[in-house]
This record gives sequence, structure tokens and C-alpha cells, in this order.
Amino acid sequence: MEGKDVRLFVKRLDLIHPLASGNKFYKLKYNLETAQQSGHDTVLTFGGAFSNHIFATAAAAKAEGLKSIGIIRGENTSQLNATLQQAQANGMVLSFMDRKTYRTKHEAQHIDQLREQFGRFFLIPEGGTNALAIKGTTEILTSEDQHMDYLCCSIGTGGTIAGMINAAKPHQKVLGFSSLKGNFIHQELLDLLETHHIGFQNKYELFTNYHFGGYAKHKPELITFIKKFKKETGIPLDPVYTGKLFYGVVDKIKSGYFPSGSSILLIHSGGLQGISGFNQRFNETLETK
Ligand SMILES: *Cc1c(COP(=O)(O)O)cnc(C)c1O
Repeated sequence: MEGKDVRLFVKRLDLIHPLASGNKFYKLKYNLETAQQSGHDTVLTFGGAFSNHIFATAAAAKAEGLKSIGIIRGENTSQLNATLQQAQANGMVLSFMDRKTYRTKHEAQHIDQLREQFGRFFLIPEGGTNALAIKGTTEILTSEDQHMDYLCCSIGTGGTIAGMINAAKPHQKVLGFSSLKGNFIHQELLDLLETHHIGFQNKYELFTNYHFGGYAKHKPELITFIKKFKKETGIPLDPVYTGKLFYGVVDKIKSGYFPSGSSILLIHSGGLQGISGFNQRFNETLETK
């Protein structure tokens, strides 16, 4: 990058699988394996109408020969959006849950009711973060990445960064860029790391000022950045996660955060499936590949 003596690398998890792409592939891997090993033929999970997690669960479950049920936040609309259409095409049974119930969806009474309604299923939480997911995201970094000084990723629930912190070497620092507004993620990640016994002393730093208004919100400068980045590098970014991450890292480079000579790895965690829905809603023209 001009004027700054750093090297930037991108790990393209968006390219590992046409449907179950990005970090979701890693988060689902051991969940689906465990579902099968424990004799389940169905997985059930939760998500919003544009959710990458819903999209990926449908695709990955199908590939593994499992049935899937998606509990979608909000009311059913007459026309399903592209995300839900594709999930349904991959065999996912969609069921809509009103927003009030959805807030307490993980409580036992609601789960019991879902079991009554749908029969036996393997439950994957909203966003997919649990111990099995973190086991999977620990595999995102490989021995090839050991010469990197900084490992940068986007944060939603924190399952991805938790695995990366677990895998990072002592000389490496993991930088997390939250796509959600607020500072709650500091405590949430600490809880996650402690629950899963992941050592984290001096291993990571979080940035919470690149949310562009909050989760799934955006500002013109983010969209301009994504388009410019695509033009210059050929790499498509999504406006919910990776666009904010890459913007943040470039901003940090400009402001001199990284010492001269640093090697910086950015994790492209996928999310490109959401772009067509985004374009439709906001009359935008972001590229999907
Ligand atoms: C889900 C998702 C994330 C966030 O992952 P968490 O493990 O929830 O923090 C980041 N990037 C993309 C593209 C995603 O779909």
C-alpha cells in the first residue's frame, strides 16, 4: 500500500465452497458431523431473513444428506427474498417466528414446542456459535499463516475470532472488527473465550468503530469503498461484514497502526450471497463475484 511499508494478504474463504462458503463452512463442519454421529437426520437453526448462516446451513446440510429447518425472524412475506429462496431450494423447511418470541427463542419452553412441532432435531444456535463451531474456526488458520504478524477478521457473534485466537501463535495478534454497534462485544468475547478455555493474554484487540451505523446498516462511504476495492483488486466484499473489516484495516494502515514491515492477513469470511438482496433493497449495484 502506497507510502506504508506493510504487506496485505487475503485468505479467500469466500471461494472454498459455492454455497456453504466462508467462515460458516468451518462453523458448521463439526456441528453437522456430530448431528450425524448422534443419529440425527435433521438440524434446526435460527436466523434473520438475509442470514448467511441460514443460507449456509441449508446448503451444507443438503450436502451431508441431512434435512434442515430454518426458524426465520419476523413474519412470512408473500415473496421470499433471494437468501430464503435459495435456502428453500436446498431443501430447508422455513418457519417464521414473530419478533417477540424470537427474542427468547433459545429458552427451553420454545425449544420444547419446536420439538413437538418438528420432531427430533439437532439444534444449532443462531449465528451457529458453540463449542463445535469454535473447534471448526480454529482450523481457519493453518501452518501457512505462521509468518503473518496480524490476523484480521470480522465479528458477529465472535465464534470466528474465538477460533482464530485459539489458533494464533504467541508472536501473532488477532484483530477483530465488529460489524455491530456497541461495546458489548468486549464482554461477550471474554465470556466466550473463558467458557471454551481459550488462552488470550495479549493475543487480540477489538475495534468497535467500523460498524457504519450498526448491524446490516451502511453509509455511502462504505459502499464507495467496496466498489473501489473490487475495481482495484477484483475481490468482492459484502456490506455487512467483510466490507467493514477491509475498510477498517485500510483505515488502520493509513493511520499508522501497523509497524513498518508488518504482514497482515485479512480473512475474507464470505457473505457474498447477501449482496443480491442488499442490491434489491437499496437499489445498489454491488458485484457478487
Ligand atoms: C457470520 C459471518 C461473520 C461473523 O462470524 P461470527 O463467528 O458470528 O463472529 C463474519 N463474516 C461473514 C461473512 C459472516 O457471514
